[in-house]
Amino acid sequence: MSESWLAKRTSHFDSSGIRKVFDLAAKMENPINLSIGQPDFPVPDAIKAAACEAINSDKNGYSLTQGVSPLREALQAKVDAQYGHDDRRVLVTSGTSGALVLTMMALVDPGDEVICFDPYFVMYPALVGMAGGKAVVLDTYPNFRIDVDKVAAAITPRTKLILLNSPANPTGVVATEQEVKALAELAAKHNIALLSDEIYRQFCYDGALPSPAVHNENTIVVDGFSKAYGVTGWRLGWVHGPAAVIDKLTMLQQYTFVCAPHPLQHAALAALDVDMSEQAAEYARRRDMIVDGLRDVGYEVNPTGGAFYVFPKVPTDETGQQFVRRAIENELLIIPGEIFSSRDTHFRISYAASLDTLERGLEVLQKLAKG
Ligand code: PMP
Repeated sequence: MSESWLAKRTSHFDSSGIRKVFDLAAKMENPINLSIGQPDFPVPDAIKAAACEAINSDKNGYSLTQGVSPLREALQAKVDAQYGHDDRRVLVTSGTSGALVLTMMALVDPGDEVICFDPYFVMYPALVGMAGGKAVVLDTYPNFRIDVDKVAAAITPRTKLILLNSPANPTGVVATEQEVKALAELAAKHNIALLSDEIYRQFCYDGALPSPAVHNENTIVVDGFSKAYGVTGWRLGWVHGPAAVIDKLTMLQQYTFVCAPHPLQHAALAALDVDMSEQAAEYARRRDMIVDGLRDVGYEVNPTGGAFYVFPKVPTDETGQQFVRRAIENELLIIPGEIFSSRDTHFRISYAASLDTLERGLEVLQKLAKG
């Protein structure tokens, strides 16, 4: 194989950093693993049973591209009840990632600018680059709040899209009602598309999640089943937005993913009737435990209201990478901030882990803070 075979778009991402962490992890016998971005609770039995039932009753072929009717109708009813927009339509996708890929392909032309907030979910700048766009990354350190004046100043005639993620990966920060309203109004004023990634919607601990779609009816919202029900391997997500956009996404899906996994769409329908508030309440307790535990031993941690991550500052004069290397030497797996950021001053902890694992992790972090 020759290097010249590879398209330029393959140069927009480098996953070597995170792969190094996972390669090291694979060699560890009993790591304290606080690196994983997926829930540790088991999938509720009713959801598993619905998946088996769909497979056993031969629902294994292609589905309609837009998703099986009962699921799509249930999601549409949910969206209609929540927003009451006449023109909002739903598409079932192959994971929230699938929805993000389709949206980028549908909206971003070569040279278009897409505004994202740093720290960001790893896929955002990579997907923008793959679509030929330019990611305009706005720094939100030290408190990870959205500064709408800064967004306004970054808008140019080439700005096509703003990407918002709340509750956020990797910081766990939830954007306030004022922030999302101001952002939604700014996007409307400049006729710029706004995409709201709400995959952690069910893990919002201090009140209901403020969504910009309430304030701007053209907001495109991506959501998914992965995190809410612990089914990351099922590859099921959904997107809702203006009908004309959803029509294009549906056509793009027809020529790429074809459809979301068919039998699992039936399980997703059953999932909509399963109450996950106990699991969310448990994660809220773990959030308190980890934030208090870190602060007690001298870490600087921002208030976090959702997802299952915290993003503390490295307490020594090391970079994130150096600190994480030392953590791994102590059997603790965490992710250096540079994976999610142009800075390397912080690290990500996932508290989707057992209480025992969290306690062991805190012990190591206490030791590491001493340098
Ligand atoms: N958005 C964010 C912010 C995420 O953290 C993730 C998963 N890590 C995704 C989207 C993709 O989720 P999935 O494709 O599993 O639905």
